[in-house]
Amino acid sequence: MKKRKAPKYIFVTGGVLSGLGKGITAASIGNILKDRGLKVNMQKFDQYINVDSGTLNPAEHGEVFVTDDGGETDLDLGHYERFLTQNLTGDSSVMTGEIYLDVINRERRGEYLGKTVQVIPHVTEEVKYRARKAATSGDFDVHIVEIGGTVGDNEGFHFLEAARQMALDEGRENVLYVHVVFLPYLKASDEVKTKPAQNSVRELRSIGIQPDILIARTDHAIDADAVRKMSLYTNVEEKAILPLVTVKSVYEVPLIMEEKKLDDVIMGKLKMKNGSRKDASWQKLIQNIHREKPKMPIAMVGKYTTMLDTYASLVEALKAACWQNGYDLELHWIDAEKIEKKDKEAWDALKNAKGVVVPGGFGVRGTEGKIDAIEFARKNNIPYLGLCLGMQLAAIEFARNVAGVNQATSEEFDEDSKACVIHIMDDQKTITEKGGTMRLGGWDCVLDPKSRIAKAYGTKKIRERHRHRYEFNNDFREKLESKGMMIAGTTPDGRLVEVVEIPSHKWFVAVQFHPEFTSRPLTGHPLFNAFIKAAGE
Ligand code: GLN
Repeated sequence: MKKRKAPKYIFVTGGVLSGLGKGITAASIGNILKDRGLKVNMQKFDQYINVDSGTLNPAEHGEVFVTDDGGETDLDLGHYERFLTQNLTGDSSVMTGEIYLDVINRERRGEYLGKTVQVIPHVTEEVKYRARKAATSGDFDVHIVEIGGTVGDNEGFHFLEAARQMALDEGRENVLYVHVVFLPYLKASDEVKTKPAQNSVRELRSIGIQPDILIARTDHAIDADAVRKMSLYTNVEEKAILPLVTVKSVYEVPLIMEEKKLDDVIMGKLKMKNGSRKDASWQKLIQNIHREKPKMPIAMVGKYTTMLDTYASLVEALKAACWQNGYDLELHWIDAEKIEKKDKEAWDALKNAKGVVVPGGFGVRGTEGKIDAIEFARKNNIPYLGLCLGMQLAAIEFARNVAGVNQATSEEFDEDSKACVIHIMDDQKTITEKGGTMRLGGWDCVLDPKSRIAKAYGTKKIRERHRHRYEFNNDFREKLESKGMMIAGTTPDGRLVEVVEIPSHKWFVAVQFHPEFTSRPLTGHPLFNAFIKAAGE
């Protein structure tokens, strides 16, 4: 048997402050290495004591990204998948809670044989095990691990310590440390300051990690002197310091890295053979992004409109579909509760949109406003794309206003209602715990060949990712169909309704799954592309 090659590891840490785009930076490194012909896997370590991302508040932490194998993960995995054009697994997301849970369970089972259980070595061993497991889960050349938070956070120590030990275990030439820092600009002296970055590197060195590469995020360009100074104080070679000025689109970052030859620096330090760059599609994408294009006003009627990251993948999917169709996305975030309260500004935004999206969501708040928006799109022949909750509400709206089921609702909103067009299936009823109890991950779906969605995908068999508890109630299927709603897609056994459409409408497609997770910047996604195309017609 051929011996499996050992993958190289790249650890990406952050300093000075959070929100630097560390995830984008890590994903961009993955992108440029993949462009050199390397097989890349990625992983995110998160400090929270939650066991998975599923129970984190999306208004605070951004969207819960779902992998095909059903992992509920941090939104950075969405960046990784988009920048790598590659599906990842749930193993690519690791949270402190999950690690401690394993260590404690093991201790309870007596597996530590009476030893004192400690952060070093027991927790750190568990961290390293997870890095190695993901790194060796395929034929990967490089495994990139992003460590959440910033250096100096008291919650992140076990991850940094494990990262430090990896160089000892794997050999220094097989492990690379990339540190992402921020250089603040001082208006008074018109200067970009490097001191906080130097301090952050010092902190990292105090736990034994000397960064090999420094990525300096900044809003203002810096000169060679500043780079020289940073190099001197941080002990990082000048050629390994990359100033990264804020750009129009995050998808430009890999190109900036390539322009500065970061791929050569990384491969040189890891002693890897250099294949040449081959793929120009990313360059073409950036050219297309920068091209002057007409605007495409799309209304997104949601519950959280204050934090962009809550719908990160959806926004990226809409953008990509606009680029595919020669537009720039003009996104109008509309607070569903304002629609409900007949707020003029919210309604004006809705009326001016060429397409309406109702995204996924949980709980009853705002749902009546979303239903009003769906009714408006249906009656005025405005292209409508419903996602998960947006599909459930489309069925409810149709039941109420077309099929005469006046009290139609979801069991999620009213448990005692007799008109639950959306309900919880009998075999799901026994589940009471909140974590990890939903229909999750990729499911096959069979489409009606006459449907719009089949036309969009160009195939009858698709697979998309799910994250929901409730389902379309089959007791209402015939009634809604007889009034003109089409069941356009189901699970292969026909049991679960996955897609509804209104064939008499210009373009009205609502899906129980989340196609936004599989949209890729280079190609968009068939369903989003078709939606934007219809919006432009
Ligand atoms: N709240 C709905 C359910 O649990 C929809 C979930 C979603 O939109 N992701 O079924």
